[in-house]
Amino acid sequence: MSVLIFADQEDGHIKKTAYEALTYGTKVAEQLGTTAEALVFGSVTVDLATLGKYGVTKVHHANNEALNTFDAMVYARVIAEAVQTTGADVIVFTHNNTARAVGPRLSVRLKAGYVPAATTLPDTSNGFVVNKVAFSGKAFAKINITTPIKIISLNPNAYKTLAGEGSAEVVSISLDVPASTVKVTATEKVTGEVPLNEATTVVSGGRGLKGPENWGMLEDLAHALGAATACSRPVADSDWRPHHEHVGQTGVAISPNLYIALGISGAIQHLAGVNRSKVIVVINKDAEAPFFKAADYGIVGDVFEIVPKMTEEVKKLKGIA
Ligand SMILES: Cc1cc2nc3c(=O)[nH]c(=O)nc-3n(C[C@H](O)[C@H](O)[C@H](O)COP(=O)(O)OP(=O)(O)OC[C@H]3O[C@@H](n4cnc5c(N)ncnc54)[C@H](O)[C@@H]3O)c2cc1C
Repeated sequence: MSVLIFADQEDGHIKKTAYEALTYGTKVAEQLGTTAEALVFGSVTVDLATLGKYGVTKVHHANNEALNTFDAMVYARVIAEAVQTTGADVIVFTHNNTARAVGPRLSVRLKAGYVPAATTLPDTSNGFVVNKVAFSGKAFAKINITTPIKIISLNPNAYKTLAGEGSAEVVSISLDVPASTVKVTATEKVTGEVPLNEATTVVSGGRGLKGPENWGMLEDLAHALGAATACSRPVADSDWRPHHEHVGQTGVAISPNLYIALGISGAIQHLAGVNRSKVIVVINKDAEAPFFKAADYGIVGDVFEIVPKMTEEVKKLKGIA
């Protein structure tokens, strides 16, 4: 019996959200009176023993060239084999695109109950009850996983990373990797920005910004705050901003500590992707804009007057010239 945490890596680095999953999985193991171990795929540039700082005792490293390319069907098969090899009965993912694609497939293979987008540690006092967000973030559901093997994917930013002392034993795990039927013809990477789903602060713009030429103002504020940038769907549909920045029901769902919405009305489809943010700040010139109902702080006013002043104040506070 153990907890196995799938630690995502990108370009050889363990992702920030994977550290949250490692801390969370270690806590789950503590609750169950067992150990937590990590599973890492592909070539890495970090010393995997350092994952021990997050509580795992062992890191199973499948350093197979074929696993550097993501294929959900291959990953599901290989992770299923790793679960059998390690004897794990709780598997923890970060709730990202990998978990969305692999989680259900793994669940079928292992006949395991799967709770996606978990927000809390399981309540093991009477079963194995995990909280998850439901109905596009408008409600929470408590799910009792009753199968012997249990799969959880943890919402990004739902659990704080805790690093202590410790070093994990790194073992090479040999897994049977089937040939992939997926051929990657091109990879486009967004560089030089904070990735949206990992960002703790997000500055987002809507149609109220009037046009792409005004995004410099938003980017200045984001830069001063060290934030990622996002937008409403019509902004991406009008090609003012790239589609990977579109948040909402049909875009990316995010849960940063701080979400600042500039000139966004707060339609229900937009809120569906951002209402799990810890603090929401809305700036809109219309006092009746629906977003104010979801806001923790609101400013009724013109973004073109307010945002440059905010940026100036943030820069002063941070001592940025
Ligand atoms: C099936 C479906 C799925 C959808 N999915 C999504 C989704 O995932 N994400 C999403 O965002 N939308 C989605 N939409 C669209 C959604 O319904 C709204 O139309 C959209 O969110 C509105 O975008 P907006 O707030 O930028 O624009 P608007 O609704 O036009 O709002 C602009 C706001 O800016 C304010 N404003 C104007 N000028 C200024 C100024 N100078 N200073 C301050 N404020 C100002 C206005 O008062 C207004 O509130 C979806 C719609 C459908 C039907």
